Amino acid sequence: MKVLVINCGSSSLKYQLIDSDVEKVLAKGLCERIGIEGSQIVYTPAGGEKEITVSPMPTHKQAIQMVLDALTNDKTGVIKSLAEVEAVGHRVVHGGEEFASSAKITDEMIAAVEKCSDLAPLHNPANLIGIRACQELMPNVPMVGVFDTAFHQTMPEKAYLYGLPYKYYEKYKVRRYGFHGTSHSYVSKRTAEFLGKNIEDMKIIVCHLGNGASVSAVMGGKSVDTSMGLTPLEGLIMGTRSGDIDPAIMEFVSKKENLTMDQMMNVLNKESGVYGLSGGLSSDFRDLEDAAAKNDPAGIRARAAFNYRVIKYIGAYAAAMNGVDAIAFTAGVGENDALVREDICASLTYLGIDFDSEANKVRGKETLISKADSKVAVVMIPTDEEMAICRETVALV
Ligand code: AMP
Repeated sequence: MKVLVINCGSSSLKYQLIDSDVEKVLAKGLCERIGIEGSQIVYTPAGGEKEITVSPMPTHKQAIQMVLDALTNDKTGVIKSLAEVEAVGHRVVHGGEEFASSAKITDEMIAAVEKCSDLAPLHNPANLIGIRACQELMPNVPMVGVFDTAFHQTMPEKAYLYGLPYKYYEKYKVRRYGFHGTSHSYVSKRTAEFLGKNIEDMKIIVCHLGNGASVSAVMGGKSVDTSMGLTPLEGLIMGTRSGDIDPAIMEFVSKKENLTMDQMMNVLNKESGVYGLSGGLSSDFRDLEDAAAKNDPAGIRARAAFNYRVIKYIGAYAAAMNGVDAIAFTAGVGENDALVREDICASLTYLGIDFDSEANKVRGKETLISKADSKVAVVMIPTDEEMAICRETVALV
């Protein structure tokens, strides 16, 4: 079955066409600057050259039309006609408490997603725009929504409640939801398969370290805790997001700097994290690494604070599960930054980790990066959210 996977943001849209029978990506790319001057589509067919076409895309509907045109193009397309697309899988960021698993897209499902939009005002409306545009252009193709929050719906109450008046949970559903669920689910499953173990018997900590970053505790294949909360701002120090802070900082800094709540939120989402800690040097770990190698204190402190927060969360989740069998690193930093993995694991010897620095010099493929007799296995598992969305979609249609 050929499945189109769509990940729609407010001004961008990532896509992949996957042949689910052989789990092969036939083509992929992204549309950028939708609704803004200078929009363009990037299209890469499997085994072919990357093409960039600059073209106005005032709305997401035009962007998706351009994707469909590229896929069916006479010369560089990978399908003859749209009739070959048998299903569409959409990433949806927030499913609230409504969705504990992926769901077929129906009018009722869309209404339920709209209800959750209050909890993800930047993301859910964009996801819905993508869903509606696809429905208009491919009215008879079955579609599925795959939620970032769904995998974490198994968290117990003690993990998802904040120490706030309970009425806020009752009235507004203020609680921890967690995100990157598709990745945590995929990577925890692959970790068990890769180690040749039954996930039902395992306690796994997944470190999804990218520009957005989160850790999860997965026990018997179910998420029992994760570092992101009501929104993706909680938890680890990220590229530009602060992660955990004392909430009183909001009032303190806003008074000192004369900032509104919106401006403060912008500081926490866009100007903090390793970017903020490095004094605005960069949110990209490659730049921070270069800076640290030149003894630049900005790069050194940003990396050290990032790593330290991950180390603390791993300790917390080993405690939450009363043990850990495997730790998995994934996403942009987790997959590519050997030094981050090594520095983090250097503080985990108390768990009985015997790290393998040679094996750690790896990129791009699933690898055991601890020694064979390490008490806790450490693995690098490349995440593949699109393939996970494709699998969910096939299962439901
Ligand atoms: P993601 O959000 O998962 O796409 O991760 C993106 C981030 O991964 C970038 O902002 C970089 O910080 C990091 N990254 C990507 N490639 C490398 C690399 N070769 N070395 C270190 N960090 C990298």
